[in-house]
Amino acid sequence: MHSVTLNNGVEMPIIGFGVYQIPAEETEQAVTDALATGYRLLDTAASYGNEEAVGRAIKNSGVPREDLFVTTKLYVQDAPAEENTKRAFETSLNKLGLDYLDLYLMHQPYGDVYGQWRAMEALNREGLAKAIGVANFYPDRLLDLIINNEIAPAVNQIETHPFFQRTGYQKLMREQGVQLQAWGGFAQGKNGLFTNPVLSEIGKKYGKSVGQVVLRWAVQRGVASIPKSVRPERMAENLDVFDLALTDDEMASIATLDTGATLFFDHHDLEIVKWLSARRLDG
Ligand code: NAP
Repeated sequence: MHSVTLNNGVEMPIIGFGVYQIPAEETEQAVTDALATGYRLLDTAASYGNEEAVGRAIKNSGVPREDLFVTTKLYVQDAPAEENTKRAFETSLNKLGLDYLDLYLMHQPYGDVYGQWRAMEALNREGLAKAIGVANFYPDRLLDLIINNEIAPAVNQIETHPFFQRTGYQKLMREQGVQLQAWGGFAQGKNGLFTNPVLSEIGKKYGKSVGQVVLRWAVQRGVASIPKSVRPERMAENLDVFDLALTDDEMASIATLDTGATLFFDHHDLEIVKWLSARRLDG
C-alpha cells in the first residue's frame, strides 16, 4: 500500500476505507470486505455509531494489528473538556476493541478546542494515539491551533474533491507539515461527478472509471483519500489507481472543475455552528 509520512514519522496509507453513513448492521460486512480487498486504513468516528462493528470486523479478519491503520474521531465535548476527551477516547477504543489508535481526529472545530487538544496531546505522548489531527478546520483555526500548542496536527481531514479542490489551503498545510486527507472525495456523487465529461474522457483514455481518475488525481496531488463503498467491486476499483499517471494537461483540465465552494456545509455558517455544536453523543 502506498503511504504518506506524517509530521511525526508515522506512515499512513494514502488510500483508506471510510465508513460514514454505513448503517451499523452493515458495517461489519463492509469492513470485512474492505480488509479482504486489501484496505489497511479504516476511518470511522464516534458519531458514526459503527465503531463496534468496525472492531468486530478487525478482530475477525486475522489481519495483524500492526498492519492496520485505524482512525476514529472525537465529537465535541462538554466541559471539563480534558477529562471528557480522555473518557470519549477510552469509549471509542473499547468499542473498537483496540489498545491504541493510529490516528485520533478532533471531528469539529467547535467547543473547548484547546482543552480537547491538550487531552489529545497527552494521549499522543502516552502512545495511545500514534498520531493526532483535526477535521473540518479552516485555515485561521488550524494556524491558531498550531501556533499556540506544542504538537501540530498531523492531519486535517477536510472536504476535498474536483469541485472543491482546496489547492491554496493545501499549500498552507504543506508549509505547516499537516497532511490533507480528503473526505467526500467523490462529493458523494453530487454535481454529476460520476458522469462528468472531463473526468469521463480522461478515464476512457486509461480504461479507468471516473472514480479511479478522481482518486489518481488526489494521489498525484499528495492528497490522502478514504472513499466509502459498500460494494466489493467498487472497493477493489478504488484501490486500483497505482498503474496510471495523469499528464500535466490532464491535471490542469481537472483543475478547471474547481468551484472553490463546499457542496456540503460551510463551517463558518452560523446555522451549521449551532447545529453541530448542539449535538451530543450518548458516550
Ligand atoms: P464519498 O467517498 O465521496 O462517496 C461515497 C459514495 O460514492 C457512495 O454513495 C458510494 O456508493 C459511491 N461510490 C464509491 N465508490 C464508487 C465508485 N468507484 N463508482 C461509483 N460510485 C462510487 O463520500 P463520504 O463517505 O462522505 O466520504 C468518504 C469518507 O470520508 C467517509 O466514509 C468518512 O469516513 C469520511 N468523512 C469525514 C467527514 C468529516 O467531517 N471528517 C465528513 C464526511 C465523510 P456505494 O457505497 O453504493 O458504492
